[in-house]
Amino acid sequence: MIHSEILHWLREENEDPLTRLWKRADDCRCAHVGDEVHLRGLIEISNHCVRTCQYCGINRTHAALQRYRMTADEILSCAHQAVKFGYGTVVMQAGEDPGIDADWLADVIRRIKAGTSLAVTLSLGERDDEELALWRAAGADRYLLRFETSNLSLYNRIHPPLSGKTCGTAAPGCANAEHPRFAILRRLRKLGYEIGSGVMIGIPGQTYEDLASDIEAFASLDLEMIGVGPYLPHPQTPLGKASSETIPPQSAIAGRQCPNTELMTYKVIALARLTCPDANIPSTTALATINKATGRELGLMRGANVVMPNLTPVQYRAMYEIYPAKACIQESAADCHGCLKGRIAGIGRSIGIGRGDSPARKRHATPASRG
Ligand code: SAM
Repeated sequence: MIHSEILHWLREENEDPLTRLWKRADDCRCAHVGDEVHLRGLIEISNHCVRTCQYCGINRTHAALQRYRMTADEILSCAHQAVKFGYGTVVMQAGEDPGIDADWLADVIRRIKAGTSLAVTLSLGERDDEELALWRAAGADRYLLRFETSNLSLYNRIHPPLSGKTCGTAAPGCANAEHPRFAILRRLRKLGYEIGSGVMIGIPGQTYEDLASDIEAFASLDLEMIGVGPYLPHPQTPLGKASSETIPPQSAIAGRQCPNTELMTYKVIALARLTCPDANIPSTTALATINKATGRELGLMRGANVVMPNLTPVQYRAMYEIYPAKACIQESAADCHGCLKGRIAGIGRSIGIGRGDSPARKRHATPASRG
């Protein structure tokens, strides 16, 4: 799908054409990845973070937030729960936390792989290549790293680099700079990981054109997993406080600001499916947060084929508050499992058995990825 066609759909507001878009995306999902919904058990292993992401509630400047890091035994116990519930994958996610020691995590991965047949996905932010290689060698299968927005100057503004050096498009010598996370994703693929990425939708300063370019980037990166969700303002973050320094003057992008709505999220899910037919695409918690009643189901009916039930122990859930009023924050893993099973059955879909690798994985198979 070309840029102008994607843009046209992002701006479409009429029900009839949108109903046709949902149908096209659903047919494409059915033809390429089938009717099964794969369940990935999410374990939020730490909310420590060294970054100062302007949008994220667990960024290091949020001083009032109580911090936690799960023990190896707690993580193992979640992995065994995943097996009990019949999940094929666990996803270990955290803030960017150097306190997660590379050797320690490699040992946790090895213990999960030795004791279960689970696929292991990591979502731990930007780590050194040696650490990524170590975890891959320990058995990690997939890595999720959203590029958040393909607009590099917006990205640098909302996601300040650790070194304090930016490489925005306006910086001299950086006109052709590549998005830093594109480069990391390519390295992850070389290491043999299945790679996943995605964006937030409706970040202040993000235009419709930016979002169309994001969707094109999904295709050019040939992602195996694509996770998208609405940007949800967190009042304890610089962007959530909406100061005029962090948000570009609306006059600068008048009429082109993309909204952070439920409808826009469905459009992006549907377009991601049509541009990357065999990717695994979750119906995300952020979407379920803005429509607790039917958001998950509508995502699944408009292109998505994955859901991520939360396995994080309840005592930690509220501390992993990347945005407010997160769906399912009080539910036990068993409640979450029961609820999602019911929702999936309710739309006539079945639960996937096994790891649920993306068919795209075969295209990228290297000796390193066959482990
Ligand atoms: N530290 C890792 C990283 O940066 O990739 C993983 C954890 S990070 C909290 C996971 C994702 O949460 C981010 O990629 C971002 O898209 C999403 N997120 C954070 N704050 C958000 C917000 N206010 N609204 C919506 N999504 C948000």
